[in-house]
Amino acid sequence: MKYYARIGILLHQLRMIPLTWLNLSWGSQLLLVTFSYVVGISGLWLLFPPTHNGSSMFLPIVIACWLFRYRGLLTAMVLNGIAFQLTYIFLLRGLLPDQAFVVGGIVGFITSLGLGIIVCWLRAAVDQVRMARQRVQAAEQEQLRIHLQEQQIALAYEQQRKINALKDQFLLNVSHELRTPLTVLGGSLEILHDFGERLDPTTRAQYMKHAIESQEDLAALVDRVLDATEIISDIPGARPEAINVRHFLQDVLTQLKAPEIAAYTIHLQLPDQLMVWADPQFLRQVLHNLFSNIFKYVPTRTEIHIEGVQSKSSSFVNIHIRDEGPGIPADELSLIFEKFVRLKRDIGGPTRGTGLGLYICKQLMEAMGGRIWVESSGQPDQGSCFCLSLPAVTSD
Ligand code: ADP
Repeated sequence: MKYYARIGILLHQLRMIPLTWLNLSWGSQLLLVTFSYVVGISGLWLLFPPTHNGSSMFLPIVIACWLFRYRGLLTAMVLNGIAFQLTYIFLLRGLLPDQAFVVGGIVGFITSLGLGIIVCWLRAAVDQVRMARQRVQAAEQEQLRIHLQEQQIALAYEQQRKINALKDQFLLNVSHELRTPLTVLGGSLEILHDFGERLDPTTRAQYMKHAIESQEDLAALVDRVLDATEIISDIPGARPEAINVRHFLQDVLTQLKAPEIAAYTIHLQLPDQLMVWADPQFLRQVLHNLFSNIFKYVPTRTEIHIEGVQSKSSSFVNIHIRDEGPGIPADELSLIFEKFVRLKRDIGGPTRGTGLGLYICKQLMEAMGGRIWVESSGQPDQGSCFCLSLPAVTSD
């Protein structure tokens, strides 16, 4: 910390000391005054023969005046008066030896009065400063409250704006997705309706096939959106198991469509003993989503590298899936895992998607206590690397 910042803190703390003294409870103040009287009177008696002055009584007077202001002064003066009277009586009865006592007592009485008035006046000044400070603090707090309220409103407005933008994006994605199969379905049905009788059986069967395929496409899209909204609104709790990464990935690859997989050269670099804690269903879905993206966005006859690593010091295993596709532009890297986000170049392009796949991957990975992120130079055709991090199964 810089030395002037330290000095600032120290000054601030010093500034607060009198304030804490002002905030003593009534009982503690009374106790303090009583204690100071005990100290003062003891001092007086101890010092009496050699000095015979009442200077030790200044302490209780100062404290009484500081804590109880003019009421304290009045009480102190009455008490001092009584004490003076009693001592005088003792003196008259020959119990005390000093002859200059009366003069000393009167001087002491007047000095105490003067001192008390000054302390009361100081205390009044401090009180005023304190009240002014409290007013300033209250005004500052009010300003802070208003500022926070304004920030909350701005935040709520921004969230609303984002939700609206997401809704627009969703509608755009879905309507784009719907358009192609709907056009094919509508066109095929129209031809069958208008010319069905005149078409030869082979052409008619072909149009029928197109219509059925488009209907299946539509049904699949609706299913995807429904699945996605279900996952978004309610991710079930993960049920982690110890999973051997190599065996699991090999299993997932055999489940994917053979012609699609065959279109890529896949390199697996996964140590045999690499084990993670993961929910098999969740992990399978994440890998399916990542591979279905590769099939959609990465040109065929390219290489895909799948690597698994666990550094000695880490309790996590990282799985890297690197492709040689178009990559992710730098300015969109941080957005890609958000709901309904598709890269600008793919919105309105020929490849269909809802922008939910990676968002779902992120939710599932986090539900398993893991992470997903993407690394890409942002240069076209330098590919992307989707990285998964999952808790490792340790041998102990
Ligand atoms: P969808 O594929 O349904 O659009 P995703 O959430 O799975 O939604 O992906 C979001 C976007 O990320 C995609 O629209 C695409 O633009 C981009 N993307 C995903 N995977 C890759 C990849 N391997 N290479 C290049 N771009 C990708």
